This record gives sequence, structure tokens and C-alpha cells, in this order.
Amino acid sequence: MHLELIKLEKTFNQSILTKIDDPLLAQYQIELWMKRDDLLHPVISGNKWRKLKYSLEHALSLGTDTLISMGGAYSNHLHALAYTGKVLGLKTIGFVRGEQPEILTPTLRDMKKWGMELEFVSRADYRLLRQYKEPQLPADLRHTHDPLRYLPGLKPGQYWLPEGGAQILALKGVAELVVETGIPYDTLCVPCGTGTTLAGIIEAVPEQVSVLGFAALKNAGFLTAEVEAMLSQSRNNWQINLDYHFGGFAKINTELNAFIEDFELKTTIPLEPVYTGKMMYAIYDLIKKHYFRPGERIIAVHTGGLQGKRGFD
Ligand SMILES: *Cc1c(COP(=O)(O)O)cnc(C)c1O
Repeated sequence: MHLELIKLEKTFNQSILTKIDDPLLAQYQIELWMKRDDLLHPVISGNKWRKLKYSLEHALSLGTDTLISMGGAYSNHLHALAYTGKVLGLKTIGFVRGEQPEILTPTLRDMKKWGMELEFVSRADYRLLRQYKEPQLPADLRHTHDPLRYLPGLKPGQYWLPEGGAQILALKGVAELVVETGIPYDTLCVPCGTGTTLAGIIEAVPEQVSVLGFAALKNAGFLTAEVEAMLSQSRNNWQINLDYHFGGFAKINTELNAFIEDFELKTTIPLEPVYTGKMMYAIYDLIKKHYFRPGERIIAVHTGGLQGKRGFD
């Protein structure tokens, strides 16, 4: 591991396992725990660090001076990348979806403050950028061998990270959260954007564990094939639940808000409405619908992302 990364990781907190104490869970004989990756770091929180770690290692090994990636105006990924770049002394460029807003979002303001160069791109161009995968990876780690799918105009020293940090190297970092878990369990739950975190978890869990992903996007049926493509071998102990998107990515309603507020009061664990709030709502709903067997022990991964909550104030 690169010295700068070791130094950075030393500043991280432990991601503990917290048991959710709630009479409702006892009533259904379900044991629910959260793996608190939200506690890892105040900025580089949750799954974004897990996903970035080995890509950064790879980038540094190549002598990279600039990290480039893409995301929305509230992107947890770009936010984490901008901060990490600052700490590691690397330049960062973020392609941000949509026109530059008159007033920058708190997320974009942070990114700018940490020195990220923001390039606002139209939604059409953003869609084009999405197809560019990992040009720098050795061939056996790439999704594609098609040179047309590499970001054009990439200069020496520049390292391209696909949307959400979704490259195969991310899986290795995610696996570390599974290894840390330390207790036996039946089901592991995780929210899904690109499905990269889910893929890393599927690769790392013991065979008898069921893995359940919860899509944050509407019409996310395509995710199954994308996750499948990231796995080193096909497995059948996982699925993605598509039923709890609440109308689409970052869409909310009063029921979701009420759930989050109630959960935070009961447990003192903060949730955000885009990923972790929807997942926890879904888990509770499925428990009430007897989806899980009595006696089951479930671990839900708190993937962090609490900075994005500022978009909903
Ligand atoms: C980015 C993010 C996700 C989605 O992770 P993927 O690996 O893209 O599926 C989930 N939860 C939070 C809090 C995130 O910020």
C-alpha cells in the first residue's frame, strides 16, 4: 500500500456493528444490525472509501497527478474524491451533470473549496461519459477491451474513474467491510446505485449468506446484469429488490421522511433519504410482511452519504 494512503487510512474511525434495539424487531423475532461505515470518516464516508481505496492505490502506482470522475450536484462519490485528492496532493476534475446552478449546492461548494475543477456537462454528454470504463486497468481487470469506450483526450498522468467509482478494483475494498463483520449472519442488506458495493459484498460473503440489494433508482432492472458482469464467478445467493425507490432516484415522500425521523429518534443512527433511508424503510416493511424467517439475523450496511442530506433541508 502506498505510504500516503496508509497515512490517510490511519485517520479513519472504526466501522462498528450496532444492534438495533426495537420492540418491533423482537415481535417478529428478527435480529437487525447495522455495519456503521457512516462512521469511517467525516467526509470520505461509507462505501465511497471502500470503493476508492484500491483504485487510488492503483492510480498512485501509475504516478497519477489528476483524478477525474463524474457525478450529480449532490454526489457522495465526487465529494469524497475531491477531499481525498486534496489530502493526497492530487488534482481532481469533476464532470457534474446538468447546467451550473446559480447557487452551488453545499456538495459542490465543498468540492470547489477542496480544489476540484468542476466541469458542468449537459445531460446528453453526461450519458455519453457514462459509457467510458476503466482505461488504465490491466486487461484482465477491465470490463471491456474496446478502446472506443475509453474517455477521449485523457492525458498522461490523468486517471479516469467511472461514475460512482464503479470499477472492478472497488470490489476488493468493499470486501474488507465483509471481513470486518466478525459475527455470523443470515442476510446482508445494502443499498444500490451502480451496484458496485453489492458486487463486492457478493464476492466476499460466505456462500450460505443471502445478499439483498435495494435499488435507489426506478426501473433498475438493468442492474442485475451489471452486477453479474462485475462478479468473478456467477452466484445465486443474491437479488436486487426494485420496489422501494419511492418514485425515483432522490425522490422522497412524507412516509419515508417520517420513517427516517422515527428511526433516528429510536436508534440515534442518522439516515439519508437517497440510499440508507430507503433501504431501512424496505427492511422494516419486509419484516412486517414476514419476508424474513423468524430467528434470522440481518446485517444492513450503513453506506454513509450523510453529507447528501443537505440537499433535502
Ligand atoms: C453511492 C452510494 C451508494 C451506492 O453505491 P453503489 O456501489 O454505486 O451501488 C449507496 N449508499 C450511499 C450512501 C452512497 O453514497
